[in-house]
Amino acid sequence: LSLHDALPILHCHSTASDGVLAPAALVQRAHEKGVGLLALTDHDTLEGLPEAHQAAARLGIELVNGVELSCTWGGATIHVLGYGFDLDAAPLRQATEALHRGRWARAEEIDRRLAAKGMPGALEGARAFQQALGDSGNAPARPHFAEFLVQGGWVKDRADAFRKWLGAGKLGDVKQHWPTLEEVVGCLREARAWISLAHPYHYDFTRTKRRRLVADFLQAGGHAIEVVNGVQPAEQVGTLSILAREFGLMVTAGSDFHAPGDWSELGMYRAVPEDLPAMWPRFARHFRDTERHSEAKGAE
Ligand code: MN
Ligand code: MN
Ligand code: MN
Repeated sequence: LSLHDALPILHCHSTASDGVLAPAALVQRAHEKGVGLLALTDHDTLEGLPEAHQAAARLGIELVNGVELSCTWGGATIHVLGYGFDLDAAPLRQATEALHRGRWARAEEIDRRLAAKGMPGALEGARAFQQALGDSGNAPARPHFAEFLVQGGWVKDRADAFRKWLGAGKLGDVKQHWPTLEEVVGCLREARAWISLAHPYHYDFTRTKRRRLVADFLQAGGHAIEVVNGVQPAEQVGTLSILAREFGLMVTAGSDFHAPGDWSELGMYRAVPEDLPAMWPRFARHFRDTERHSEAKGAE
């Protein structure tokens, strides 16, 4: 039995970060969509992975440990995906705990700023919305604040909330102290993760700057770039594929699914050009190593 007969999904979010499905519900949905290999990649947290593993074992889906870490590079916040690490990898544990504290500080700052503009109770409101979706110890994120603003009647919908209050450069766009790209890639390498640069087209960069990002990511020790992110334009997939070939990087793909009915569906993304070296066959090797490792441990 091959791990990769069915569609692999290597990028999605649960209620452990800013998705709307609890980890078990997400895995269930992936199963229904015919996904055979899934990586849950919540923002800056590993919290959803144990629950996702339980559901995956029940349904016969291969679940790869994943995470989407934020970092800074060239004055922008960049996302880096890590895969196939051990859940108790100390460097990653420490990094996600620091980010966890940072996210709470950021949520409190957004709350203060909205209150100063006559919109009190944002943290509590965002938290209530977040908790209604699923239990999470994480700070509410901007989509949760957006929902609070919609429900309070301050904006007409979520898009309006981002346009007026939460989007880039707006009051709720509170800068968090993220680690650098080098630090994040270094941390993932220490945790023995496979590392992919998420959605390189997501940033408002010139062609030259995007190329420099890929070069610096490779220099830092990255392994792959995400050439397909949901339903991004085919032309972008083409450009990223050229970059992958040029730099000799592996590639990853995923839906970047956050919510049903949103811009991307779980298991729906553009095809990856066949000549590119996909990262996911490496995961199978990682699993076999892990199994051997635990068998050896059991025999002790
Ligand atoms: Mn997100
Ligand atoms: Mn991202
Ligand atoms: Mn994402």
